[in-house]
Amino acid sequence: MNEVGEMPKAAEMTPQSIVMKFGGTSLEDAVAIHRAAQIVRQRLAHKPVVVVSALSNVTDQLLETGRLAAKGQLPAANELLQNLQRRHEEVVLQSTSPAQAELLRAQLEADFGRLRQIVGNAAAGGELTPRLQDHLLSFGEMMASRIVQAAFTHAGLDAVWVNALDCIVTDAAHTQATPLWEETDEKLRSELLPLLAANRIPMLGGFIGTTLDGIPTTLGRGGSDFTASIVGAAVQAGRIEIWTDVDGILTTDPKLCPEARRVPTMSFEEAADLAYFGARMLHPAAITPAMRKNIPVWVLNSRNPEGKGTEIVAHPPEECSIKAITAKKGVTVVDVQAVRWFAPELLREIFEVFERHQYGMDFLSASRGSLSLLVTSTDALPRIAEELKGLATVRWESEKVLLCLRQPEIASQVFRALSEVDLRMFCQGASERNISFLVDEAQAEDSLRKLHRLFFQSRFDRYSTANTTQPMCQAGGSWQ
Ligand code: ADP
Ligand code: ASP
Ligand code: MG
Repeated sequence: MNEVGEMPKAAEMTPQSIVMKFGGTSLEDAVAIHRAAQIVRQRLAHKPVVVVSALSNVTDQLLETGRLAAKGQLPAANELLQNLQRRHEEVVLQSTSPAQAELLRAQLEADFGRLRQIVGNAAAGGELTPRLQDHLLSFGEMMASRIVQAAFTHAGLDAVWVNALDCIVTDAAHTQATPLWEETDEKLRSELLPLLAANRIPMLGGFIGTTLDGIPTTLGRGGSDFTASIVGAAVQAGRIEIWTDVDGILTTDPKLCPEARRVPTMSFEEAADLAYFGARMLHPAAITPAMRKNIPVWVLNSRNPEGKGTEIVAHPPEECSIKAITAKKGVTVVDVQAVRWFAPELLREIFEVFERHQYGMDFLSASRGSLSLLVTSTDALPRIAEELKGLATVRWESEKVLLCLRQPEIASQVFRALSEVDLRMFCQGASERNISFLVDEAQAEDSLRKLHRLFFQSRFDRYSTANTTQPMCQAGGSWQ
């Protein structure tokens, strides 16, 4: 209580803390978990809250078990589950004490029992419903957070497991849920603040939440970044650190273009745009909560913890034109052609049909008789086409990649550089800061490298002959 007898506000009570999120790529085995513990140890004075993803590739594999089961391949699904159980048990044995290992293995036995039931239900129903999928995937983060908490304790850190399902309250939009902010903030504060005040390290799984009725949900693939930001905003953290397997945000995905370089700093808007347009190292919604509370976000490399990383802030010291080129893979372009014309009722009907099948209307381009939009799954398209029969024809082409650059004035340079490539849906974003276009998957890497060479490489080359160690971004807009 303060002098006039009022309870202090949550923000006033908050010891300034930091949120540290370790992705699957930083948690592939016992060695990686130990490395994460060392990184956290160095930041104890900053009162860390730790958010973890599932161990590397576990979410993909859990999803695969559900899909196999739904296709009638239950034995293959169960075999995959068995391999996953073995892998988790191995990590437990290598990273915790014998007493902890015994408890964790019993817990894993129970978890995998539940997983076999869920997969059995998918097989019985012949379908992996979004709700079943969320329940299935939630185990990845639940298991990892328990194991990493035990491993951290074994390494001498006072880590306390916090059940993310008790803290992150969401709507019921399964596979892409949105937090109910007030409920979530309140729960996070009441769970985390007492632990932080006692100098303990709260540890929770990212990506997952529950509806008000207690049904597990997920925040969309890569959602642990979002959780880290939600947690950071709730406890009014001093900074949010996203620990991953690359040196920060790079000029493009290094897996597609090895010449990619670290971007030292960028604005919240730039990072949010990059994430939205497919830079996988950040969940598209991850920047929003941090931006709302003006909390700096750092992207750092758990394999190179001394590296400088990328700092994302409201107003970076230097503004520059293009920070990165993104590539969003696995995109399908859907063309909806009106049988007659697009009367407003027809448009409404089309939007409703897509929404009913849980498709967002992304990257829309429209002309008098046709609409084009982008989706990342083709599952429901045959049903949508059927439902719109007589009103519109629906055709789609898969295996496209959406490339995106900021700064529209360079469109002519892009056209010139990619004169041999078939560019589809060239589009300037509503924000007018981006240009995006579709290319065939087969041409994507080559196009991306060409653009990277055009917009970045010459600057790096000039820069390295100047004999400095870090590419700089100058006020006025260009790399030097
Ligand atoms: P985590 O498990 O840590 O969440 P992710 O696989 O989700 O890791 O994200 C890290 C990966 O994002 C990197 O390995 C890299 O291949 C990819 N990536 C895509 N675009 C970029 C970019 N512009 N800068 C850095 N990494 C990128
Ligand atoms: N494990 C989840 C996924 O693979 C969440 C995350 O990695 O952030 O999508
Ligand atoms: Mg990720």
